[in-house]
Amino acid sequence: AAWITGFVTGAEAGRPAPKATGRYAERFGGQLVLVTGAGSGIGRATAYAFAEAGARVVAVDRDAESAARAAEMARLLGAPAAWAETVDVSDEQAMEKLADKVATEYGVVDVLVNNAGIGLAGSFLDTTPEDWRRVLDVNLWGVIHGCRLFGRQMAERGQGGHIVNTASAAAYQPSRALPAYSTSKAAVLMLSECLRAELAGRGIGVTAVCPGFVNTNITSTARFAGVDADEERRRRKRTARLYGLRNYPPEKVADAVLRAVVRNEAVVPVTAEARGLRALSRFAPGA
Ligand code: NAD
Repeated sequence: AAWITGFVTGAEAGRPAPKATGRYAERFGGQLVLVTGAGSGIGRATAYAFAEAGARVVAVDRDAESAARAAEMARLLGAPAAWAETVDVSDEQAMEKLADKVATEYGVVDVLVNNAGIGLAGSFLDTTPEDWRRVLDVNLWGVIHGCRLFGRQMAERGQGGHIVNTASAAAYQPSRALPAYSTSKAAVLMLSECLRAELAGRGIGVTAVCPGFVNTNITSTARFAGVDADEERRRRKRTARLYGLRNYPPEKVADAVLRAVVRNEAVVPVTAEARGLRALSRFAPGA
């Protein structure tokens, strides 16, 4: 089995800031938004979109440098304040410390985006118990820690709030290539629906966002287990042909996240592929 990790390439150093849509300008003024995995891809685009919409932003990533860069850019884009926090979301104690620090120093989070995630390609029988644990620790437990700790703070404050969990279109469809990843994302989808039912009476919304293929580090650094370079190239080409969505930008997912919060949507498939898979799925809650 091979890891798909969120390497920070430094591309953002030379890349222009993502375009502001302006649609939610000032909509989140005064609110505190915490995004995990904010150093790259969808999380980074989401942190920037909330910054443009006037929110104060806490950019959380296990990679200190990329978190710091994201917070700096968030300020440039209009966030009245932005902070970087270096935390591994799978580390329960570190998450507890983060939740305490945020509540004490920045305030109760109004919008929590549990976005940090890792990919793993490889067949079920090739995936080791250690690999399973790492995927579930980050993709599932990371989300559970965030929901528990920050959800409780929101509930105790009693002024509502919103939690967005990044699941995936992989949650809709059994896969021979991504069994551990798909399982983790199906669990995130279900836990989001359970938590939504529980928190509805307290004015706290919960959304599961399910992107299809989006152009980020997680997809560009994908490695296939046990195949040589030529075979990997062939498979990449086939994937690109199949999905034809190589260039779906993370900024569009960010836009869907902000819209979901404004409209309090339960499950949001993003990309045509994700909407199609959801419609066909036997597994999707609420489908
Ligand atoms: P990415 O690799 O570009 O970004 C992920 C970020 O999360 C990185 O900055 C990484 O350092 C951080 N991260 C990883 N593990 C972490 C941990 N344990 N603690 C804290 N931070 C951690 O990938 P992305 O495509 O932006 O992925 C974001 C989310 O979207 C993930 O949950 C992913 O599964 C999901 N997703 C992505 C796609 C896609 O096609 N790109 C599709 C569906 C769902």
